[in-house]
Amino acid sequence: MAEDKLSDYRKKRRGSRTDEPAGAGKDRRSGSSNRGGGSRGGTKQPRFVVQRHDASSLHFDFRLEIDGVLVSWAVPKGPSVNSADKRLAHRTEDHPLDYVDYEGRIEEGYGAGTVIVWDTGGFENLTETAGEPVSAGEALAAGHLKVELYGQKLTGAFALTHTKMGGDEANWMLVKVDDHGADRRRKPTSTQNESVLTDRTNADLQE
Ligand code: MN
Repeated sequence: MAEDKLSDYRKKRRGSRTDEPAGAGKDRRSGSSNRGGGSRGGTKQPRFVVQRHDASSLHFDFRLEIDGVLVSWAVPKGPSVNSADKRLAHRTEDHPLDYVDYEGRIEEGYGAGTVIVWDTGGFENLTETAGEPVSAGEALAAGHLKVELYGQKLTGAFALTHTKMGGDEANWMLVKVDDHGADRRRKPTSTQNESVLTDRTNADLQE
């Protein structure tokens, strides 16, 4: 099922020069299906990643592991830790799970530019309706998702809401919930530009 969800991912990369994960199915990756600490078996926390992608325009890709893929949004301004900020999040194609630690330079074609892992960690789905827990997949379908992030730059709860602003079905909104991880003064998207995995910046990968 996760493979069907990745057909857009593969289609967009056809003929591109890229070292991004192939998003291939059963013929690859067999035996390494739980790499990176997936949620398979329901015992491990699902992963999130925010990648800083210096492409034709700089943006941050916000991805959550849900039902075997990385559900993805491009956030032009990046996530804010100030709960007063509303950030446009444009839903993009689901990515394969092994994209969670991808960094590199996409030579040409779709998304050409550099990618670093700006923040990553586990997350917890906090979505509820009338006090009852809602699965992440159902929350996504219903257009409202609340997640607790356990990252290095991003901590605490974030809410994603399907606004369809301007009549665009892909438009969601990403907002920090006002909790222990909120901070009105911190601006991690402008002051902390290095990878949490390798300390590299996008400029380092341009070489
Ligand atoms: Mn991107």
